[in-house]
Amino acid sequence: MNVSVMIDSLKQEPATYAAEWKQSHAGKVVGYMCSYAPEEILWAAGFLPFRLLGTRYAIEQADAHLQSYCCSLVRGSLEEALAGRLDFLDGMIFPHTCDSIQRLSDIWRMRIQNHFHADVLLPAKLDTDSTREYLVATFRKLLTDIENWQERRITKELLRKAADRYNDIRFHMNTLYTLRQTHPERIAGSDFHAIIQASMWMDRDEFCRILSGIVEELKAMPTAAPFSGKRIVLSGSVCNMPDIYGMIESAGAAVVAEDVCTGDRFFQGNIAVKGDMVENIAKRYIHRIVCPAKHHGLFSRGNHLIQTVRETRGDGVIFLFLKFCDPHGFDYPYLKDMLDQEGIPSMLSEIEDRNLSEGQFKTRCEAFIEML
Ligand code: SF4
Ligand code: SF4
Repeated sequence: MNVSVMIDSLKQEPATYAAEWKQSHAGKVVGYMCSYAPEEILWAAGFLPFRLLGTRYAIEQADAHLQSYCCSLVRGSLEEALAGRLDFLDGMIFPHTCDSIQRLSDIWRMRIQNHFHADVLLPAKLDTDSTREYLVATFRKLLTDIENWQERRITKELLRKAADRYNDIRFHMNTLYTLRQTHPERIAGSDFHAIIQASMWMDRDEFCRILSGIVEELKAMPTAAPFSGKRIVLSGSVCNMPDIYGMIESAGAAVVAEDVCTGDRFFQGNIAVKGDMVENIAKRYIHRIVCPAKHHGLFSRGNHLIQTVRETRGDGVIFLFLKFCDPHGFDYPYLKDMLDQEGIPSMLSEIEDRNLSEGQFKTRCEAFIEML
């Protein structure tokens, strides 16, 4: 199969896909918010993990339950549920991260009829000795709650198999990221983003098989004229609009690296498959770069961003946040200061995902890229 056919097979409507998967596999679909939900445990339990990424429809009901200063990811996800477009979900997992996700969990519990509802109470600090113990206990409780719901055990072997599958996916995704750094011209940004999105709702076995095929094809592609545009590093929160990548490309640049919740951060790290599997799953979260809703040293995110820019020969950084996202908003000033001190240019764009002004964003990108 050629690479564009494989990529096209990933561009499906997620909710329709999940509802069909549920029927054909006689399985359960469990939704989750945010990259701190331990997907491996859900996959080991035989569920299809389904990440919620807001809505592309107008908000009609969610605003009656949430303050207007909630981010569009939270408002949009609640809107999807209230409108009945997530009725195929059997359960929901809410990691204890930002305030908006925590409050969404409370509202969801009262308003939406899922069979299973779990708050995963993660520690805020991820750099102390007691953290690992706490995180492991939290994941064990989730595992036990799922076992009680399903009335069946999630064995070590099932966890190991799930970790193997996720390790494979992360290996291929990291190869893809490296390919994109060296040959951004080989895959269009919007195709790249379609792959990332599919990783969050597709059957993980099927996704891994298609992904490895895409990566092999891209590796074998003959080298065309090398990319000569500006190299952008994207930093921020949820990027659920493929056009962002396309828009940056049409402005004469390419995204060569990222530190976003729905991108690179989601694919970092490997899970050891020997020893206690719950501990191994927890360790990955402790070792990967934190998001701004967690704490791991005062400057870890800034240092990581600078290192990423240097390693990928980035020309500049585009910060991309959802409007009203406090964790990212609070981190931004120190990140920008650190970039300024290193002489790395940056631009900030706060977006409201359902009514992004494409023209305005593109004009700002063009001005920034011209200045680089
Ligand atoms: S910033 Fe952190 S808490 Fe917020 S959505 Fe991203 S990973 Fe989750
Ligand atoms: S985008 Fe920000 S406010 Fe919204 S869920 Fe993520 S961390 Fe929370």
